[in-house]
Amino acid sequence: MAFKLPELAYKVDALEPHIDKATMEIHHQKHHAGYTNKLNAAIEGTDLEGMEIEEILAKVSKHSDAVRNNGGGFYNHSLFWSVMSPDGGEEPKATSKLGKAIKASFKSFDNFKEKFAAAAATRFGSGWAWLCVGRGGKLFVTSTPNQDNPLMDVAPKKGTPILGLDVWEHAYYLNYQNKRGDYVSAFFNVIDWGAVGKRYNAATRPKKATKKTAVKKTTAKKAAAKTTVKKAATKKVAAKKTRGRPKGSKAKRRVG
Ligand code: MN
Repeated sequence: MAFKLPELAYKVDALEPHIDKATMEIHHQKHHAGYTNKLNAAIEGTDLEGMEIEEILAKVSKHSDAVRNNGGGFYNHSLFWSVMSPDGGEEPKATSKLGKAIKASFKSFDNFKEKFAAAAATRFGSGWAWLCVGRGGKLFVTSTPNQDNPLMDVAPKKGTPILGLDVWEHAYYLNYQNKRGDYVSAFFNVIDWGAVGKRYNAATRPKKATKKTAVKKTTAKKAAAKTTVKKAATKKVAAKKTRGRPKGSKAKRRVG
């Protein structure tokens, strides 16, 4: 099935005055639609047809430039629209998982904001600024050129993006001209931290075991049980210790 241009969850003028109607219209209906159509054309009749976009991007170095540029463009803009809202702008709640993670990773929200704005400002030419989930649920800020993103195997710093800002001139030139900094500041007024929080929770949720690993685990458990029985037969003390081990301590550490 071909990729579909996602609809906006708000009207094209809903983010004004921070992001103007004309920019939203052209950005969504022309630019994003263009990436979507070109991505579909690039994968038509190939093995990539029917794959999830994340799966395609994870091995993008093996595919054509058309897949890299348009696949990135499709994914990045889909994320971008979803993390903005006319009701946005409030800081993430300090008690939320995301609020806590921002504090743990950046010390404070203001410190994060400064880092993110700097990443957006210093990205030379066209590209994106990102807030990503790395290993162990730790957050980091990065930026990528063109339509690349941190899901791609070509990215210097890989992670799961949960917030992205488009810093291509087409994203702000009509309203802000050369003043990218003003556009970045305005973006903070429309960030939907609830949506970003949901992405954070999804990215840090322990992955469900696939059938293969589930089978492996069962086999390992059986083997462990056998050993325990053997040991118990020879040494009753050893068996007691095994039972005394706290349950689930291993599972708890399996985050991300
Ligand atoms: Mn764009």
